[in-house]
Amino acid sequence: MKSYWQNYIDGTWVDGGAGRIDVINPATGEKLAEHALADAADVDRAVRAAKRMHLSGALADLRPVERGRMVQAMGRYLLEHCDEIAEVLTLEQGKPLWESKIEIEGAARYFEYYGNQAETVEGRSIPLGKGYFDFTTYEPFGVSAQIIPWNYPVEMTARSLSAALATGNACVIKTPELTPLTNAWFAHAAEAVGLPTGAINILCGLGSEAGAALSSHPDVNQIVFTGSVPTGIAISTAAARNVVPCVLELGGKSAAIVHSDADLDAFENDVRWGIYFNAGQVCSAMSRVIAHESIHDQLVERIAGVAQSLTVKPGIEQTEFGPTMGAMVSEQQRDRAEAMVAQAGTEGATLVTGGHKLNNAGAFLEPTVLANVSPDMTIAQNEVFGPVLSVLRFSSDEEAIAIANGTPYGLVGGVFTRDLDRATSAARQIRAGQVFVNEWYAGGVETPFGGYGKSGYGREKGREALWNYVQTKNIAIKLGGT
Ligand code: NAD
Repeated sequence: MKSYWQNYIDGTWVDGGAGRIDVINPATGEKLAEHALADAADVDRAVRAAKRMHLSGALADLRPVERGRMVQAMGRYLLEHCDEIAEVLTLEQGKPLWESKIEIEGAARYFEYYGNQAETVEGRSIPLGKGYFDFTTYEPFGVSAQIIPWNYPVEMTARSLSAALATGNACVIKTPELTPLTNAWFAHAAEAVGLPTGAINILCGLGSEAGAALSSHPDVNQIVFTGSVPTGIAISTAAARNVVPCVLELGGKSAAIVHSDADLDAFENDVRWGIYFNAGQVCSAMSRVIAHESIHDQLVERIAGVAQSLTVKPGIEQTEFGPTMGAMVSEQQRDRAEAMVAQAGTEGATLVTGGHKLNNAGAFLEPTVLANVSPDMTIAQNEVFGPVLSVLRFSSDEEAIAIANGTPYGLVGGVFTRDLDRATSAARQIRAGQVFVNEWYAGGVETPFGGYGKSGYGREKGREALWNYVQTKNIAIKLGGT
């Protein structure tokens, strides 16, 4: 592992005006490497490089199929380097090595999908009567700023970067300060496939300095942000001051409603992924289970069994897929989650299993299940962003929906039942951007994803996301002749 990593501006690896930041391995608490830390001047250089590239037309004026091919080739580059990226991702983020490989495959899939979609962005002609020819066309915004969270640093960058490049934008990426290392491979990929210099600029910097400078930069034309609600508010306020659009993918407190006729074996399998994948540090995690009273006790027992079946150990030792979980991203995040579990206890919840940090080095928290959680408790309202599942109880369908919708968030939701009418009725009533029926995390890169309420606005993934990166132009032509 290299001991010092730089930022990437205008095709060159550079130091940061704000010095360096230590990158910590959360599984050991030890320093892994140093990364250059950008200041506002670095951000300005990156935005100017992106703007210059955009105005040159080197990307925007290409035939879409050519842009698409480059974007797809970037995905293949990531797959070719999967093992080395996965190792660095696990060391900086904490997740099991096999999970890191899934993340990189997921990232590559974005490039495959949006590379393909590049050719599909077509306008339409609009009849204006005799003497006119009118049509619409879609143009890239120009400079797309993308501010990335630490939970999926590779996949979240891939999600916005692939669609932005496919539609011809120049990109400035602000990587998360906890997990900045893996984004270097996007620069390597860009060079390998011959993307124009300046099409991708990658900076690690503090949110309060580099992030704020990027989101308020007057030459940024569009912003994509994935992260917490308070930061989303700050970024969208900055965007509003410059009258530029932004997409906000924020947090969640998503709930699975489990009816008495659900396939409980299948649900048990979903719990393993729903809340313990990436140690629960997933915006769309199944952080609440709303169980029908008739199956409540056996469901709590089954969920606790899943939690207890997981071995918690350093991600780098977890080479093979299995019942394992890694470290959380930092001791600070782990302590925050542990404190939230303790508070739930004081508010009357029952700690069924877990709830404590491991008695060794590293940011490890036991897989945790809380029962007897009521909808107004802090743990039922606030995002934990850790391996903590809260079980609530319901007796009527109306009550289940009311509990599911009873938080400020609305990212995803789920309903588990064999009754199609009940499932579709719940899917309609759950206020969330995506509803899973009988399988948590069903869907893929093709399916649009984003929030209702405080979970944000705009959509990533699917064809819907393309429209974030283009603006509509109408061209109205007065024809001569008769
Ligand atoms: P965060 O909001 O603290 O940071 C996210 C990014 O914003 C980082 O790069 C950070 O440096 C930057 N930032 C911080 N302050 C800033 C400012 N004032 N101006 C500009 N940039 C600033 O979030 P996090 O702790 O990294 O991530 C966890 C949160 O992200 C959770 O709430 C989670 O639910 C959410 N998330 C949402 C999705 C989604 O798709 N909806 C996906 C992943 C994570």
